Amino acid sequence: MKTNNIEKFDKAAFKASVKQHLVTTFAADEKTASAKVWYLAMGKALAELTTFDLVATENDEKIKNARSVNYLSLEFLIGRLTGNNLISMGLYEEITEAMGELGYNLTDLLEEERDPALGNGGLGRLAACFMDSLAAQEYPAIGYGLHYEYGLFRQSFEDGRQKEAPDAWCGVEGYPWEVARPDFAQQVGFYGHVETYTEKGQEKRRWVPGMSVEGMPWDLPIVGYQSDTVYPLRLWECRAKAPFSLASFNNGDYFEAQHALIDAGNVTKVLYPNDNHEKGKTLRLMQQYFHCACSIADILRRHDAAGHKIEDLSKYETIQLNDTHPTIGIPELMRVLIDVRGLSWDTAWEICSNTFAYTNHTLLPEALETWSESLISRLLPRHMEIIYQINYLFLEGVKLKWPGDVDKLRKLSIIEEGTHRMVRMANLCVVSSYAVNGVAALHSELVKRDLFPEFNEYFPGKLTNVTNGVTPRRWLKFCNPGLSNLISGKIGNEWPAHLDQLSDIAVFADDEKFQKEFMAVKKQNKQRLANWVQENMGIELNTDAIFDVQIKRLHEYKRQHLDLLNILSLYHRILNEPGFDMHPRVFFFAAKAAPGYHLAKEIIFAINKVAEKVNNDPRVSDLLKVVFIPDYRVSMAEIIIPAADVSEQISTAGKEASGTGNMKMALNGALTVGTMDGANVEIREEVGDENIFIFGLEVDEVEALKASGYSPYKYYEADSLLQASLDLLAGDEFTPGKVGLLSAIRDNLLYGGDPYLVLADFADYVRAQNDIDAAYRDQKQWAKMAILNTALVGKFSSDRSIRDYVNNIWKLESVNR
Ligand SMILES: *Cc1c(COP(=O)(O)O)cnc(C)c1O
Repeated sequence: MKTNNIEKFDKAAFKASVKQHLVTTFAADEKTASAKVWYLAMGKALAELTTFDLVATENDEKIKNARSVNYLSLEFLIGRLTGNNLISMGLYEEITEAMGELGYNLTDLLEEERDPALGNGGLGRLAACFMDSLAAQEYPAIGYGLHYEYGLFRQSFEDGRQKEAPDAWCGVEGYPWEVARPDFAQQVGFYGHVETYTEKGQEKRRWVPGMSVEGMPWDLPIVGYQSDTVYPLRLWECRAKAPFSLASFNNGDYFEAQHALIDAGNVTKVLYPNDNHEKGKTLRLMQQYFHCACSIADILRRHDAAGHKIEDLSKYETIQLNDTHPTIGIPELMRVLIDVRGLSWDTAWEICSNTFAYTNHTLLPEALETWSESLISRLLPRHMEIIYQINYLFLEGVKLKWPGDVDKLRKLSIIEEGTHRMVRMANLCVVSSYAVNGVAALHSELVKRDLFPEFNEYFPGKLTNVTNGVTPRRWLKFCNPGLSNLISGKIGNEWPAHLDQLSDIAVFADDEKFQKEFMAVKKQNKQRLANWVQENMGIELNTDAIFDVQIKRLHEYKRQHLDLLNILSLYHRILNEPGFDMHPRVFFFAAKAAPGYHLAKEIIFAINKVAEKVNNDPRVSDLLKVVFIPDYRVSMAEIIIPAADVSEQISTAGKEASGTGNMKMALNGALTVGTMDGANVEIREEVGDENIFIFGLEVDEVEALKASGYSPYKYYEADSLLQASLDLLAGDEFTPGKVGLLSAIRDNLLYGGDPYLVLADFADYVRAQNDIDAAYRDQKQWAKMAILNTALVGKFSSDRSIRDYVNNIWKLESVNR
């Protein structure tokens, strides 16, 4: 448990190791090496320490004989590892000193690390926070993901429009923290056919793949906070094997074989950049299967190596599916148990249905995965047979419970009938898992009430809630050292591992001295962000202004365009309402849009164009600034979040499953302006109604309005401020000489039905924003509210989320090594 790192640490040896790597790994010269190479050499020297602990953890008998969770996710948005790992290892000061003696400032060196952006947004970041909390609390765990060659694209703006560029996060020089595990490589098949054969008088089925590829695992160290426990985040890289399609080679079709080789090499080439949206492409299903096949084979390898019986698999291993992306792992485990290990269907099903648990992340219909039966049959013929058999047996049970109810059969079936039959991955998950959870209380209720009411009736108690959380190590201790030190000065330094202790600072919320200190830290953080913006974007900011922040993927349901409309309303009022008064405000945005998401890209363009005009309009002076920070990523969030006064969480009620950006900002003392959606509901419960700005329609009101025939135009006609704000997008105010260049948003809202009820919520949003303006003018009161936000959101530590999983779903024991 308690780390020996600090006592074991030998500064002289460490410095020698850095120099050694500089010369032997990177062929660089001490005198001329760049900061980049010094960072890489330092990373390699540090990784030696964590690799040692990784292997020690892996080989620990306690771990081998314990029950473990296998967290399967197509995405792990881990962010930079170096700074965080140093904190966990307890070596931050020691390494600062060591690198200082070598002539380098650690903070500068940390900036040399490119974020591993192996995820899109909240879902991938959640997986990263969960790994951190599993290691911190020593619950036996392995994370399984994919080693994409290119992570989420890099974003830049050209004349206000998003441009995408590939993100080669490893660089040519490699990522210093990762270590290859060639002994654990796996073979994965695709295509081919299924054949029948007889063994000991029994008729059996087996898959003969048409091609196969190799999966090479790379381990990233997940270092437990103040502990020697290091778990692997095991990322599979796809490598084509040559010669590869034997049949093609034997037919003399050399080029055909080479072509297949190139295709196979592409399986882990790039992360799909869609967030909350699924497009059924073959390569995506190949990624999913490759991920599951490698991971399940590795789980079984560990199980066998520990000397456990296959029949006991679900005693030792549980597999958590992060959304439906790894669902194909269910028929894969069935296939291996039956076809390879020779178990009966019933035994295999008993194991499988007690091994998998599934986390639902969304109710959005466009995000619920379905795969065409014909594609699965071609790519994974044996798996399709197994899915049919699972469905057949399940529906037999449904018929018994609801005799003659064809409607129930149709709704619950894993197969959606139609001209093209589709496999509903969420249904397969619910049928095959021992637990299903949503990610916030409201969301989990909606999963039961609206998405899976029949399943909830059929499997009473299976559907449950685990509210998301964020790791306080990265999202407070590391990213906000000023606030961390202030807190530790009052309540000691145990809080990063016991976040509920933050409530002990609530007693200082009325303490004027503490308020001043708290606000001074906020100001420093705002200055740090302002400096970044000045240096990188050339925009000068006033740190007395309210820093208002909306940072998240760009999505209509998240309603960045509602935020924009409020900005337009302020701009309109500044120019047209004599005597209009407001506290200066800087509106920050950071968001990537999926490259194929047209309207999302139009919203980015519009915000950038509005920013260009507003920021340079002398009539506005510094009352209003709009800053769209490019290339949103974890390391950027770490600078923005500590500087936020206001956290924008304004999704249409019922659409945001949980949100975690909301938790990070409240933890760092920002006040939320938000709808009654996702975890906002629980944040309000914790901090109290007087310390949050709630507005807008609630879930039931949204549904009622839609059912009654929502007419956005009526809102437009009835509200002159809304009209003026929207109409600013119709002319050429922000695109001189080019009338209507920004009208896509306005058209979508007025004539496209406004599917996310932006206009219906506009007036109350403007009201809430006015309340914020008024509240900020009372700095003491604001400080008190901000302090109470930090103090009262201890619940949203991902340590608590993990304990909920452990106690209510996984039933693990901490190993306490
Ligand atoms: C926390 C985080 C998210 C999730 O933000 P939401 O506001 O919950 O959507 C997305 N991207 C990054 C880089 C994050 O750190």
